[in-house]
Amino acid sequence: MGKTLPAYQGSCHCGAIGFELRSGIPPINWSIRACQCSFCRAHGALSMSEPDGELRFEIRDRTRLRRYRFGLRTADFLLCGHCGVYVGAVIATEHGSFGIVNLRTLSDAPDDLADPVPVDYDSEDTGARIERREEKWMPVTSMP
Ligand SMILES: [Zn+2]
Repeated sequence: MGKTLPAYQGSCHCGAIGFELRSGIPPINWSIRACQCSFCRAHGALSMSEPDGELRFEIRDRTRLRRYRFGLRTADFLLCGHCGVYVGAVIATEHGSFGIVNLRTLSDAPDDLADPVPVDYDSEDTGARIERREEKWMPVTSMP
């Protein structure tokens, strides 16, 4: 990273599972997805990742970190075992580590945010899913 990109922080409700993301793309142009899978709908989650940026997880209490895998089981969805909040997800592939955050957990949500786009990835197979995440998710500099 040559220059410092604007930073945005978030965490679960009790603060045990935190993150900082950096992106040079202004929030109004962020890619925000309302994933229609049953997990994301149950959480009212909005997924955000910008491949130009980077994502660092800050686990302040590791005993509260829960990893949940479902569907094709290619990524770890990170939840707080204490307050119950879904914070984000990570995947490790041969090309690196990538992640998304649940935008609902941003500490200071920017005033101007792009409208969420409903997405449905049901038809993907494992290879397509991993490829999409390598392409669209953010490089993770500190894996949880
Ligand atoms: Zn918590």
